[in-house]
Amino acid sequence: MTVELISVGTELLLGNIVNTNAAFLAEKCADLGLSCYYQSVVGDNEERLTAVLKAAMGRSDIIILSGGLGPTEDDLTKEAAAKVMGRELCMHEPSRKRIEDFFRKRNMEATENNWKQAMMPKGAIVVENENGTAPGVILEEDGKKVILLPGPPNELIPMFEKSIMPYLSGEDSTIYSQTVKICGVGESKAETMVKDLIDGQTNPTIAPYAKNCEVHFRVTAKAANEKEARKLLKPVVKELKSRFENHVYTTDADTTLEKAVVDLLAANKLTVSTVESCTGGMLAARIINVPGVSDVYKSGYITYSNKAKRKILGVKKGVLEKKGAVSEEVAKEMAKGAALISKAEVAVAVTGIAGPGGGTEEKPVGLVYIACSVCGKVTVKKYNFSGNRAKIRETTVSSALILMRQCILEYYSEVTFGKKLDGNAGRQK
Ligand code: ATP
Repeated sequence: MTVELISVGTELLLGNIVNTNAAFLAEKCADLGLSCYYQSVVGDNEERLTAVLKAAMGRSDIIILSGGLGPTEDDLTKEAAAKVMGRELCMHEPSRKRIEDFFRKRNMEATENNWKQAMMPKGAIVVENENGTAPGVILEEDGKKVILLPGPPNELIPMFEKSIMPYLSGEDSTIYSQTVKICGVGESKAETMVKDLIDGQTNPTIAPYAKNCEVHFRVTAKAANEKEARKLLKPVVKELKSRFENHVYTTDADTTLEKAVVDLLAANKLTVSTVESCTGGMLAARIINVPGVSDVYKSGYITYSNKAKRKILGVKKGVLEKKGAVSEEVAKEMAKGAALISKAEVAVAVTGIAGPGGGTEEKPVGLVYIACSVCGKVTVKKYNFSGNRAKIRETTVSSALILMRQCILEYYSEVTFGKKLDGNAGRQK
C-alpha cells in the first residue's frame, strides 16, 4: 500500500515554520509498513491544492493532508477535498455540538466562521479532535482513502496516534515496535552488516536511522495482538543483538546514550568526573541531563586555557609546551588530574580543535583526543572529525560517551569491542 503526504499552508512554503508534521507522519507511516513515494507542500490556494490532491489520488492508495482545517477563509482543505471527490458539505451535528461545548467550557462565544469546522463532506468518517475544534476527516472512495488532519502538531499527533493508526493498521491487527540502538559503529558499516535482514524482512520490518555517532534500528511487527507481534519481533531483535554484540547499548526506545552510560556507572557503583576543553561543558551538560545522575556525577572542569590545565589539573608545563594542548599526552594528563583531584573512579577528558580557526597542517581542525581513566587505567583515542564548530563539538561529546562506555565495560566485564567489526569501531590498541 502506498501513502502520500500533502502539507497545506503558505507559512510552510515561506519557511516560516518547519514541516515537523511531515516528518512525524512519514515515520509513523513507515512503521505501519506503508510505502511513501511522494510528499508535497502546497499553499492556501484552492486551485493548486485541488491539482495536487488529484495527482496524489491518481498514484497513491492513501493520501494524508495536514493543515487548512481552521475556521478562516484561507482554510480550504476540506472544501478542496469535497470538490475533488464530488461530495456535498453538510452540517455534522455531533461536531457542531462539540464546538459549542468547547467554547462554552472556556466561557467564550463561537464566532460565525467556527461552524464552518462542523461542515463535513457527505459520507465522511469524522474523527474527534480532543485538543482543538477542527475534527479530522476520512473519505473513502474506490479503495482510496483521503485523510484530513488539523495542522497544529498538538492536535495532529494525538489524533493520528489514537484514531488514524488503528484505522490504517486494520481493526483486527496491532503494530508493535522495538528499537535496537547501537553506538561506535559507522552508519554505512552498520547498514551493510544487516542489509540481508532489511531486504529479507517484510514482517517485522527493519528501519535504520542514523544519529550523531549512533545507529538505531526500529523493528516493527504487525500481528493480531501485541503478544503475537512481540513474538515476531523477538528473533529479529536477537539477531541484531548477536551481530552488533556490545555495541548495542539498549533496546528501549526511551533510553539515550547518556542514560545508558549513567546506568552503567551506577550498576558498577562508580563515580565520574569530566574535564573539557573544546566542548566547554557540553559533555557535563549531557550527562547531567539524565535524572538521578547525582549518585554518579562528581565534578566537571572546563580547562580551556593552558594555564587552567596546569593550575587546576596539574598538567606539566613541559608536556604542554612540547606536545601542545591538543595531544595524546595532554589528554591523558587531564584525565589523570581530574581523577586525582575529584577522587572519581572514572574521569573523561576532551581536548581538540573545533575550528574554524586554529588548525595547522600537523593538527587540523577536527583533531580531537579523548582520554578515559577507569580506576587508573587510562585509554586515549585520537579522532579526526569533520564539519563545522558545532558539529565537531557535538560529535566529540557523543564519542566521549561511547569511549566511556567501552572503557567501563572492558574494565569491569572483560568485554572486548570490535570482534566482528574491522577498523573504525574496534578496540583501541
Ligand atoms: P487551525 O484551526 O488551528 O488554524 P488548521 O488545521 O487550519 O488549524 P493550519 O492553519 O494549517 O492548521 O496550521 C495551524 C498551525 O499549526 C500553524 O500556524 C503551525 O504553527 C502549525 N502547523 C501547521 N502545519 C504544520 C506542519 N506541517 N508542521 C508543523 N506545524 C504545523
